[in-house]
Amino acid sequence: MVLQIQFQVCGLILVCMILAFCLRKNILSFTSERVFFTMILLVLGSLILDITSVWALYELFDDSLLKGLLCKGYLLSLISICCVMAYYVMMDIRQLNESRDFRAFICSVPVFASAIALIFLPIAYCEDNGLMYTGGESVILTYVVCCSYLLVALFLAIRYRRAIRKSKLEALVFLICSWILAATVQKFNDGWLIVGYAMALSMTFVYARMENPENRVDRLTRCFNADALYYYILERFSSKRTFSIITICLDDFKIVQETFGKENAERVMELVVSFLRSMKGCVAFRSGEYEFTLTFDNVRHMYDALEQIEPRFKRPWQIYEMDVKLSLSMAYLAQSNMLKSADELTDVVSFFMEECRKLGKGTVIPINEEQLLRKKEIDHADASLRRAMEQGTVQVYYQPIYSVRAGEYVSAEALVRLFDEDDKFISPDLFIPISERNGLILELGMIVFEQVCQFMKEQSLLEKGIRYVEVNLSVVQCMQEDLHQELMAVMQKYDIPPEAINLEITETAAVNSEKTLLSNMEALIAEGVTFSLDDYGSGYSNLSYVVGLPVDIVKLDKTLIWSSFESQKADVAMQFAISMIKSLGMSVLAEGVENVQQYRRMEALGVDYIQGYLFSRPLPKEEFVRVISQKIDALD
Ligand code: C2E
Ligand code: CA
Ligand code: CA
Repeated sequence: MVLQIQFQVCGLILVCMILAFCLRKNILSFTSERVFFTMILLVLGSLILDITSVWALYELFDDSLLKGLLCKGYLLSLISICCVMAYYVMMDIRQLNESRDFRAFICSVPVFASAIALIFLPIAYCEDNGLMYTGGESVILTYVVCCSYLLVALFLAIRYRRAIRKSKLEALVFLICSWILAATVQKFNDGWLIVGYAMALSMTFVYARMENPENRVDRLTRCFNADALYYYILERFSSKRTFSIITICLDDFKIVQETFGKENAERVMELVVSFLRSMKGCVAFRSGEYEFTLTFDNVRHMYDALEQIEPRFKRPWQIYEMDVKLSLSMAYLAQSNMLKSADELTDVVSFFMEECRKLGKGTVIPINEEQLLRKKEIDHADASLRRAMEQGTVQVYYQPIYSVRAGEYVSAEALVRLFDEDDKFISPDLFIPISERNGLILELGMIVFEQVCQFMKEQSLLEKGIRYVEVNLSVVQCMQEDLHQELMAVMQKYDIPPEAINLEITETAAVNSEKTLLSNMEALIAEGVTFSLDDYGSGYSNLSYVVGLPVDIVKLDKTLIWSSFESQKADVAMQFAISMIKSLGMSVLAEGVENVQQYRRMEALGVDYIQGYLFSRPLPKEEFVRVISQKIDALD
């Protein structure tokens, strides 16, 4: 007689192969890897029990204790596997608020209950056409418990599918369905003992899709990759284990690649990686193309590493007698528990790495309470701006501009205003740079411009003595080739003569996009639009820009005005600036004039226009209209 063990033996071979792979690779000891490993061991045990119990069914007497033990042991192994499987599914679901230990405990209760029940429940040894199989209450219990585990696991996997990685979800659904199918087939065909084989086969699938350590390793540097980092952090958070983290960006590595060639650059990368990996107590990840992340369980090790990394990068790296100098930017976080979740940490680290890039080579940012608060403010401003743009609640205020010669308000500056959900003011100094970074400024700029044109038309501002309104243009807007067409289209829509618009540009715009800016300016000037150079005296104040740019007005920055009252030197510089601008045939506007003393001084120096709190703060539309039609009493 031939024993019915062909399927089990095939399964056994498969499981042994996976086990060998698992043991050979360096494992990061993720919980998921450990749970998977446990599952493999259980499947192995179960297959051995399966084979030996089949042997016992044929070879031992019904009242043999060994036969009972092997058969019931096999049943219990099936229940245990289903239990671990259910836990494997639950592990990643963050929405289940209980700790992992508690989940593991809850999961294993039915296993212990079943183990006790199996001791007492009878098992029947049946025969059908020479085929031996088991039956009775023990088998029924096993079916019921296993099916319950599988169905609960399937339900959870589908219910929380967003919390589980897509590849894991696919593998799990395949695994659960194949087990249910195999159990059903085996139930109705007693000769087909395929459950063990189905388990081994589906475990191979899960291994290939999910638990293969190669999936988590960067091929070039053999460091763990970004994927591994994310799951590493995720695990640390769910097991509430605090850690420290340093993220390093090799600033000019791209240039190294271009200068020294790909192969040499890879050699340098290897040197850097082996240096980073030598930091005591760290796990190293390649988290981006030129980015590495080190995690430490012990914060002291992190500070030790910081002390070594910076000085090392001051020295060159040597390959084949060549010296290669690398610059690095870093952000580091001493205590991961300052953040609430893995996602937040990932977001925070990438935010500060972006900051590093913006601030330039060699920036080091300690991610502390203060920095986190700043990020929170920025996120809040970003969200508020998006909301306001969506809901159409972005507002524009107007600050009157006084003409010294005319003795009245002749123009105004349009200033965008944003309020959050609680009606709290958010400064444009905060959200304009954000909107420039994420591109929203283009839409925002047009929203402001359209509101200005609409307001001028509605209130017939030109008839109220306002000759033109000044509108700020961002650097990003100045880089757009079709800017002039877009602006002209809006002016035409509201029937606003181009002479009634004055656009404020900054030196930064001129530096960044000289050609595009100039062609936009020429096209608009040809239509009648005029320009102002804003914030003069706050940045480079490069004379060549003032001379080269076709602007009518130069706006002296408020800091220049204020410092001229504090230092003799600044005062002299300002006087020269004013006389130079005027002799170039341009008008001068002084910003930030807050008192009569400042006003008198500006007047004496020949400044043409005054803008500042002395006359008025930026005002909402209606108030602005009221103020410009009243008598000016600020100078009385
Ligand atoms: P800016 O273009 O230099 O605008 C002048 C800023 O000075 C305004 O700040 C205004 O409220 C403030 N100011 C005017 N007079 C005084 C004064 O006497 N004392 C003091 N302390 N401040 C005075 P605001 O509105 O907060 O705008 C800040 C910056 O945000 C603006 O500086 C501009 O660069 C930018 N911004 C505002 N609106 C827009 C816009 O619609 N588009 C673009 N691209 N940028 C804008
Ligand atoms: Ca301005
Ligand atoms: Ca200004």
